[in-house]
Amino acid sequence: MKRFIAAFLLATPLAIATDTLLPLANAGFEDGLSGWTLSPGAPAEAVPEAASLGALGLRVKTGSDFQISSTPLPVQPGETYAVEFWSTGSKEESGRVAVKMIFKDASGSTLKPAMGKIRKWPAGSTSAGPFWENSILAAAAPENAASLSIQIIPAANSDPGTAMLDDFMVKKLGEIVPMQRDADGAAPIPPADPARLALLEKEIADNPHRGKSAPRIVLKLDDFGPRNGNVHPKWIKVAQYAKEKNIPVTFGIVAKGLEEDAPAFFQWTKERNAAGEIEFWNHGYDHAEGPNAEGKKVQEFNGTGFDHQKAHMADANRLAREKLGFPFISFGAPFNATDANTVKVLEESPDIKVWMYGNGKQPAGKKVLSRCYAVTIESPTFIPNYADFLEGYAHNRGAEYFVMQGHPTHWNDDRWNQFIKIVEFLVAQKAEFVKASDFASK
Ligand SMILES: [Zn+2]
Repeated sequence: MKRFIAAFLLATPLAIATDTLLPLANAGFEDGLSGWTLSPGAPAEAVPEAASLGALGLRVKTGSDFQISSTPLPVQPGETYAVEFWSTGSKEESGRVAVKMIFKDASGSTLKPAMGKIRKWPAGSTSAGPFWENSILAAAAPENAASLSIQIIPAANSDPGTAMLDDFMVKKLGEIVPMQRDADGAAPIPPADPARLALLEKEIADNPHRGKSAPRIVLKLDDFGPRNGNVHPKWIKVAQYAKEKNIPVTFGIVAKGLEEDAPAFFQWTKERNAAGEIEFWNHGYDHAEGPNAEGKKVQEFNGTGFDHQKAHMADANRLAREKLGFPFISFGAPFNATDANTVKVLEESPDIKVWMYGNGKQPAGKKVLSRCYAVTIESPTFIPNYADFLEGYAHNRGAEYFVMQGHPTHWNDDRWNQFIKIVEFLVAQKAEFVKASDFASK
């Protein structure tokens, strides 16, 4: 049994847990379906197309009734267990399945899971794609529990389609220890497990792109604007580094800043744009979030109504043309929060050709660049995290592109070093760094 340190960031920021990995039989489907029990006729196979790590993964056709169960693992009542897995849909016909933690007593009766020490549900559904995403379920073993198994069943909300699952892990969670903040009050980089990093680096080296091209990478850096009329030194640092590496970057402008009297900022921005080094894109007009008249929390492009969104989109696009002398080509909403009105507004915004993290089902006539939550710069937000990036990247080899989000003004030296590590890894993978606007149909 292997012991290692893992960070449970989503559940408990600034805490680390010493966990025990449990020996789940054939957790990555490398031995086909052995170790898993299928109901008769269950539409499931272990196939290479469903591999996220390794050579095989589980492909399930949705739309009929079935049940797939793992080999049970012994548990101790009161202890918290977590189940992690990776999943995606198929490009052609995405479906979803549900994954549940099943606790049983010694006589084989199913028990209700108890509340665990991290805030997660004991059941969840798979990602519909297009990327592989990580899910974490957790619960405490209830009184009299003797075993835990994983059950895969149809999801309540799934259309007929295909779901793919791989790389299950079951952990018994250890004590959760709060992490110390840095001297400057910043949250530190979550600790990484060196053995896990080595395993992932080897996995990637053995099969870098799963027979596809190296991915295209958009570095989507948010919240650019003038500070005291000039460019914040942390943005200049990114620009200089990117130029040194000869890679383009993209900076999202909150357009209200363009109303300021900031000649030095305007000159810097125009020069970088003219040199083709940086794409500046529409990141809203005011980036506001707050309660509306009914007290409901809304964001600039979510819940604010058509007229509000129309005006903010138009003002931002106009300010770019007026103050910078070029149009915004790409849009990425503040908080990545949009609604049906955003689709209508975008349909009426001819400047915008590319919608980052947009609505793939209602693209508003734009090229939508989808979000891969697992492959990004920051995890959690504001903290560049090479280990989490590498985990996501390994599981998503073969993807056409990744649009990776970051917020450079939040990066201290430690965080900067993680960002550099991520970029240099991607350079070594021969990834092609591009602008979002490079995806616009010309
Ligand atoms: Zn933002």
